[in-house]
Amino acid sequence: MDFALVDHHCHAVARGTLTRPEFEAFLTESDRPPPDGCSAFDSLLGVAVRRWCGPVLDLEAGAEPDAYIRRRAELGGEGANRRLLTAAHLDALLIDTGLDSDPLLASNELGRLAGSRAYEVVRLESVAEDVAARGTGSGDFAAVFSAELHRRAAGAVAIKSVVAYRHGLNFDPGRPSLAEVARAASGWLARGRGRLEDPVLLRHLLWEGIDTGLPLQLHTGFGDPDLDLHRCDPSLLTRFLRACADAGPPVLLLHCYPYHRQAAYLANVYPHVYLDIGLAVPHVGHRAPTILAEALELAPFHKLLFSSDAYGLAELYHVAATVFRAALTEVLDPLGLAVAERTRIAGMISTGNASRVYQLPGTAADS
Ligand SMILES: [Zn+2]
Repeated sequence: MDFALVDHHCHAVARGTLTRPEFEAFLTESDRPPPDGCSAFDSLLGVAVRRWCGPVLDLEAGAEPDAYIRRRAELGGEGANRRLLTAAHLDALLIDTGLDSDPLLASNELGRLAGSRAYEVVRLESVAEDVAARGTGSGDFAAVFSAELHRRAAGAVAIKSVVAYRHGLNFDPGRPSLAEVARAASGWLARGRGRLEDPVLLRHLLWEGIDTGLPLQLHTGFGDPDLDLHRCDPSLLTRFLRACADAGPPVLLLHCYPYHRQAAYLANVYPHVYLDIGLAVPHVGHRAPTILAEALELAPFHKLLFSSDAYGLAELYHVAATVFRAALTEVLDPLGLAVAERTRIAGMISTGNASRVYQLPGTAADS
């Protein structure tokens, strides 16, 4: 089946040409190079990139890494990015702008190269750190943060938190009082206003995010070495999910792997909870059908969304989209559904759920 996808969680890609070490750095979640003489291409993701992206750049499938990097440089950053992003056939991109830096494409450029609608997702911790960097005092912090968050939320389709990275998901689920927030802000600002890791403030941000009414995305599962994996199991969110069940906005559990079965359970029992298997999808390459099948053991079809979590390389968009389409076909085919029914379910997972949850303009709820 070939169908459009809404990528509900992704990041920008590098603007220029990349050397092989620069390229390989984006093929791994590690923040360090591999052992001497070893390559990040020697992985299921590396194999998938050579297999699926080689032909998009006029190479044979499985082209050698050096030949691949050379061809990429010949086409130039923009040429290679355009080819790969277009080949991914993405209907819309929901871009987490919290990681943006200069060598990366801006969201509107990314959307233009992909031929996709581009929407912004606002990262709570980045807004708080921006507010602190402006010199806001502890007494004003809550009010200034709230005003800034609502201002930025007005141009966005979702809010995102990386509390998994900054503390772990085993946080006190309750909303802190304003006195607690002022006390915590005073400590954080006095300590130099740097990276926000205070658990009281992180909880405050989450509840303020819910107050915007926008869907709340939460990083869960694996990621770069800045996290403690055992503290990113989404089932640690159970009490928070119960606490915000009637607040209104949907909560979207991102990535989830290797805890995608736990996330699927949460999506099964809580009407406001959704999940994706992004990041794992490009990384596990041809194993994607297994991960998708495990997620769908308990997650209803109306609860699973597609994401690439692509960052840095347009290749990650193309690999994620390609292996996800193949996985969806492989998982739905054996169900013995009539073609129209199978198409309807594939449509929900590929675009319909995202269009409904984020209320994206211009896409039918079940197309
Ligand atoms: Zn991400």
